[in-house]
Amino acid sequence: MSKVILRNGTVLAYDENSASIKVLRRASVVVEGDRIAAILDADSSKDNNHSEAEIVDVTGHIVAPGLVNTHCHMWQTAYRTLGPDITLAQYFSWGPKDVYIGSLEGYIEGINAGVTSFLEHAHNNWQEQVVENGLKAAQDSGARIWWCYHPFDRDNFPLDEQYRILKNLKSETRNSGDLVRFGLAMDGLDSMSDGSIQQAKQLARELEAEALTAHYLGGPWPFAQHLPELAAEHEIEDLKIPFVWSHAGFVSSKDIDLLRQHDQHISITPESEMHYGHGQDTSRFIHDQASLGIDTQWTFSGDILLQARLWLQYVRGHQSTEILKRGHIPNQTPMSVMDAFLLATRNGGRALHRDDIGVLKVGAKADIVCFDGRSPNMLGWTDPVAAVVLHSNIADIKHVMIGGQFRKRNGKLILKSGNWEEMSVQFTETAQRIQQAFRVPPPLPESIWGKHEFEDVPNVSASRLEH
Ligand SMILES: [Zn+2]
Repeated sequence: MSKVILRNGTVLAYDENSASIKVLRRASVVVEGDRIAAILDADSSKDNNHSEAEIVDVTGHIVAPGLVNTHCHMWQTAYRTLGPDITLAQYFSWGPKDVYIGSLEGYIEGINAGVTSFLEHAHNNWQEQVVENGLKAAQDSGARIWWCYHPFDRDNFPLDEQYRILKNLKSETRNSGDLVRFGLAMDGLDSMSDGSIQQAKQLARELEAEALTAHYLGGPWPFAQHLPELAAEHEIEDLKIPFVWSHAGFVSSKDIDLLRQHDQHISITPESEMHYGHGQDTSRFIHDQASLGIDTQWTFSGDILLQARLWLQYVRGHQSTEILKRGHIPNQTPMSVMDAFLLATRNGGRALHRDDIGVLKVGAKADIVCFDGRSPNMLGWTDPVAAVVLHSNIADIKHVMIGGQFRKRNGKLILKSGNWEEMSVQFTETAQRIQQAFRVPPPLPESIWGKHEFEDVPNVSASRLEH
């Protein structure tokens, strides 16, 4: 079994008793196979027990658990920069192509930014090859992925056929390692008959699904209302499969109770919710059952730490503005830097009901990110969690390990399949070709999905001429 020691760094170990981070200075992480075998003080990593290990000196580095992204749609990555100013209502009718290269590039963007685990909401669901290619990209990425396929009945690609393909893919991949796990996306619960919900539950059992997920907006959005309540009515919790609700910006207090009762989690995607205008009102009241996601990294960054920082400052800004508008002065900050770090790491593992993901502890999966704390933007830190959350950027991420394999080392990507130069040529070709076809977003209809009216949004232009 391969053995690697990350020696003499500042290790952000997970402490079960306090459910928080314990900082170990001048410590070493021993990786055997795909797991963490030991966390040692620097001196004991030099004894003879470890003479056969490969030593990686991480002096001056902060050694953190791999980051977890609990909501993404990677096939769309080749649209990058095409939708800089669109809103959620404009986004829905765009068509997809080149799923493999788009998905693969998306995962690699995440790995480069220290994301080691992804919950993929795979709505690449319009033909057999597209389904297969999405899964193949996940397998070729080297990332740890809960690949949650989203069945969607189409005239030329009916549900029966999708179910058959999924079961075949599941049986073909049964013995191909444990990095990619099957799951199921269950959007549309509010419009499905009881029969089709039962059918979806049966599919989840047959796929041995390890995660379920669904979009859940709430508020004035005309779909996806009170979904946890609906899921409970259909006893989805009986499946005993982790359920992650993405966004949940208007989660109700009743739904909050249900999430805690059934150990279901939400994926807050801060940049997405601000960018598209999904809205964010109540997610912050259920941080204990929350994790972080990206959503569409073709429209903004795939960097989960950036999401953690955005969310931290959004919650702080939102809360203090509410108090200031009432004429009072806030007497404390509502959210700590440690909360932001845990949302990006440990809580992602909790969302997937995995206590060996998103943590550095003995027995956990060896998903590890090393930040070089000596860069101009980080130098001088004493609190390593604050240094990572508030001061780091992707350039500081020197090593990324997934399941004991380096996927980035000394700042250079190590791809599981292919090489970056060839891939980037292919990706650029795809992006340029398909962006040509989808350059102009579709116009808005009279009202959104035939139900809700639009309201004019005042423009806050930075250009003097436009005023
Ligand atoms: Zn989404």
